[in-house]
Amino acid sequence: MALTEMGAKELADLIAQGGVSAEEAVMATLERIQQTEPCLQALLTVCPEQAISHARELDRSGTSETRGPLAGVPVIVKDNICTAGIKTTCASRMLADWVPPYSATVVERLQQAGGIVVAKSNLDEFAMGSSTENSAFGPSRNPWNVACVPGGSSGGSASAVAARQAPLALGSDTGGSIRQPAALCGIVGLKPTYGRVSRYGLVAYASSLDQIGPMARSVRDVALLFQVIAGGDRKDSTCVSMPASDYEAACIADVRGLRIGVPREYFASGVQAEVASAVRTAVDTLSDLGAIAEECSMPSTSWSLAAYYIIAPAEASSNLARYDGVKYGFRAHAAGRGHIGMAERTRAEGFGREVKQRIMVGTYALSAGYYEAYYKRAQQVRTLIRRDFERVFERYDVLITPTSPTVAFRLGERAEDPLAMKLADTCTLPANMAGVPAISVPCGFHDGLPIGLQIMAKPFDEVTLLRAAYTYEQATDWWRRSPEL
Ligand code: GLN
Repeated sequence: MALTEMGAKELADLIAQGGVSAEEAVMATLERIQQTEPCLQALLTVCPEQAISHARELDRSGTSETRGPLAGVPVIVKDNICTAGIKTTCASRMLADWVPPYSATVVERLQQAGGIVVAKSNLDEFAMGSSTENSAFGPSRNPWNVACVPGGSSGGSASAVAARQAPLALGSDTGGSIRQPAALCGIVGLKPTYGRVSRYGLVAYASSLDQIGPMARSVRDVALLFQVIAGGDRKDSTCVSMPASDYEAACIADVRGLRIGVPREYFASGVQAEVASAVRTAVDTLSDLGAIAEECSMPSTSWSLAAYYIIAPAEASSNLARYDGVKYGFRAHAAGRGHIGMAERTRAEGFGREVKQRIMVGTYALSAGYYEAYYKRAQQVRTLIRRDFERVFERYDVLITPTSPTVAFRLGERAEDPLAMKLADTCTLPANMAGVPAISVPCGFHDGLPIGLQIMAKPFDEVTLLRAAYTYEQATDWWRRSPEL
């Protein structure tokens, strides 16, 4: 089997047994990147020198026990996660040349585990979008059909993993940005519970919603990377100190007695019939394996979209205030305009259209006189959404829904229709609003494009989440298919 076809666990085992060196694994990945990048544009920076030198160091050092669970495995990192010495652009002109002086905690942890960062992946500018079309450096493409978007905002990571550029990637998820592109590219993506993974070194979009998470082609590989990055961090006060569970051990095929809720609001109009039916078939598959599934209701679901698109821009408007031409990155030439003029010019030239729009919406929603009507009400709605989850989780262990209402759409198709674009997030936003963990797993195809199934669980119960996802995956073979490129 080609090295690039192997999953992370298989590859790590092969390297540990001495069947192949870390350097050979990295070289195979770099070659695959070279072959597939021209048609995908999944990556913004490839770092061959650093990757090869890390691999050589690893090949020379230690025994297989001391080298860590990811020893020699290539990993792609979304370009809003800081990597010391490697550009971190957020797909924005604002940070086009910015090289962070430090690495995110997740990057440090994956490197300590022997993982090798080979590239930084494309995204919607500052993670704002659902298609990667908002990248200042051009869109990425879906390996199943290059005329289609890979989803977003972690579209580059999803496209890269589906195209076998690397077995593992990191994404970030504020309203669906790991799960929706995972669904659209036919891979697995996990948004952990808010507070399970450190956000230190993740460039902030909406801090009360952002989480970093793993993306891979199988549930087991997602669990492997999750194990490495999960756990407390003194550098992020919102990251809980509770130790991580054994997520790899959670991957057992057994759902006997598992109680599944299927909230009907997630199958409302706008969900493609083929998507709804693939998801219902998946629920039947789990029922045949001994789970107990039942329809349920989460009435506040339909308000998620409106509330999210107040809260996320409000937090963004405050987080993005730091890009003033002084502290970070780009500075516009504005001779004779003074400090304010320079800052204005910098922000006008440095940010793209979508980012500016969100800053304006967020600033408006937070301003005196409008705060009560918009921001405060959105927070009240958020409480109602959280209560919906608390209520259904008294009865069910997990919830199952579609991840995205539709399969991948064509590039440009929704670019001029912001509402249609945002409707792509309807099924994923509630998990961020409530802080609960959620995973997307492949569950079928329509028109040659992958369909994703979303499973959600109680806060910090990723073990049950992974067990349900693994059981479903092992009973089907959607995840084994690979796109022809
Ligand atoms: N599509 C959503 C947005 O644009 C979610 C993005 C994300 O999760 N980063 O805000």
